[in-house]
Amino acid sequence: MMEKTAVLEQFDVYGIRKDFPILTRTVNGKPLVYLDNGATTQKPLQVIDAIRHYYTELNSNVHRGVHHLSQLATDAFEVTRHQLKGFINAAHDHEIIITKGTTDSINLVASSFGSAFVKTGDEIIISAMEHHSNIVPWQLLCEDRGAVLRVVPINAAGELDMDAYRALLTDRTKLVAITYVSNSLGTVNPVREIIEAAHANGTPVLLDAAQAIQHIAIDVQALDVDFLAFSGHKMYGPTGVGVLYGKEKWLDAMPPYQGGGEMIKEVTFEKTTYNELPFKFEAGTPNIEAGISLAAAIGYIQDIGMDRIAAYEHGLLEYATARLLEIPGIRLIGTAANKSSVLSFLVDGAHPYDVGVILDKLGVAVRTGHHCTQPLMDWYGIPGTVRASIAMYNTREDIDTLAAGVQKAASMLV
Ligand code: PLP
Repeated sequence: MMEKTAVLEQFDVYGIRKDFPILTRTVNGKPLVYLDNGATTQKPLQVIDAIRHYYTELNSNVHRGVHHLSQLATDAFEVTRHQLKGFINAAHDHEIIITKGTTDSINLVASSFGSAFVKTGDEIIISAMEHHSNIVPWQLLCEDRGAVLRVVPINAAGELDMDAYRALLTDRTKLVAITYVSNSLGTVNPVREIIEAAHANGTPVLLDAAQAIQHIAIDVQALDVDFLAFSGHKMYGPTGVGVLYGKEKWLDAMPPYQGGGEMIKEVTFEKTTYNELPFKFEAGTPNIEAGISLAAAIGYIQDIGMDRIAAYEHGLLEYATARLLEIPGIRLIGTAANKSSVLSFLVDGAHPYDVGVILDKLGVAVRTGHHCTQPLMDWYGIPGTVRASIAMYNTREDIDTLAAGVQKAASMLV
């Protein structure tokens, strides 16, 4: 316990908070307590300044102009790609496809990998805790191809049933697509084991890292993962940009996802040849300011250090769990042994929405509802939860305000 308290105290959270201007504002006359980081994180000045710098100094289209500004913008955009490669330890820059976000990245794989490799009767494995973004694209693919979606079940704590997973892997399995961290439960899935078992079956794996990339150091080569999808806006970066990492051998074998400018080598009315990686998958003008300023978000995380962030957030999650469990009538949804940054809960006798409204009046931002995981909520037999999700700038005081607010909501509603 001493050690954990020391981690919380050594981390300069108050210094970090100074970089996030929005955290000083009030909501409903109360200081903002922002605990909806799973939905999107706030942005540090470094990112905000990078966006401003782009529009005041660089604004120009990328990868096509010979003029000075276009060169500068292109270089800055490619710096982000290179930084992303280092951040997740990809083997090559061209394995980093810049997309609109996690949803876009997963749709890209479902469409492109699906059209090349999935036939009638084939199977795709997902899990019971997936976000709709990692369910619906596979359902669309299965409908289109006559393929079958298989779902790995979970236990009451919100952990994957790994025996059931292994039993689902057969010669019909064409892809495993599973979340690294559950956005509704906080469960950190055993991704190494998942990947090893799939590879032993000759099956590639896509990890939805939307809720992992900002909390856990990820090394795609060490994991040997085939595809990794994540969003800039959940890792202190801008909205409208994200990443699909793919192993070169898969990306090379996959057809283009969308047609348009940038992704072509040569176009005639008879035949078009496609650009090389990564541009084959980047049709049209990208979100340039977001792509460029994402580098500032990555730099921000790297300067603090992912391992230090993870240790701090873990201590805060334990503190928050203990504080909430002091409140009579609280039921935690998601009690896996290995969790990250998410606290989903119900107050006995109160609807999650009503708890959320009372918390909002107190300046506390949480998310309520099904969190885009309706099948998971159905499995628990609940309409939704209240979800507090932690980021590196949250403090014990934030958690104390949350706990006091939940206590107040319970006394008003129950
Ligand atoms: N996957 C998970 C686990 C998520 O939590 C989210 C967003 O909350 C997504 C996918 C979709 O991310 P985006 O909306 O940024 O594409």
